[in-house]
Amino acid sequence: MKRAIFPGTFDPFTIGHYSIVERGLAMFDEIVIGIGVNHLKKTLFDESKRLDIIRQAFAGEPRVKAMIYNSLTIDFAKSVDAQFILRGLRTVADFEYERTIGDTNRILSGIETVILFTESAYAHISSTVARDLISYGKDISAFLPPNVKL
Ligand code: ADP
Repeated sequence: MKRAIFPGTFDPFTIGHYSIVERGLAMFDEIVIGIGVNHLKKTLFDESKRLDIIRQAFAGEPRVKAMIYNSLTIDFAKSVDAQFILRGLRTVADFEYERTIGDTNRILSGIETVILFTESAYAHISSTVARDLISYGKDISAFLPPNVKL
């Protein structure tokens, strides 16, 4: 069984994240989406709302699970018996960060990071912009996965 985790903050989970997971299902039997809790990072959506959004998005997909984790990402991967970490890459700005963290995770645990390039239609989508739009009272349904209601 090939299992990957897809870790992130997901504040909120967007259609860009959704697309990475959907494409990841062609490579992995199961994907566990992990909402990483970092108490130093203030979020707009609380953990249970972030989990609810992800569960709505994948309600019809038994190969995708979602959970909250408080540990190091590699320890979370081991705890769910995942051999891979899935991540998405939008721009060169994401690249150095992903490489550093991916190298560190592999050296510490042997767990490989698999990176998918974002679909160009979603390259501009980010949780940060979604939160900004919400703060100005704008509708962000175009940023959300299908079948998700906030
Ligand atoms: P983190 O705080 O770990 O960066 P995020 O929730 O911002 O968590 O992102 C989780 C993963 O999803 C990261 O690999 C990020 O690069 C990727 N990602 C974010 N937005 C998009 C998008 N629009 N398309 C593809 N991947 C994305």
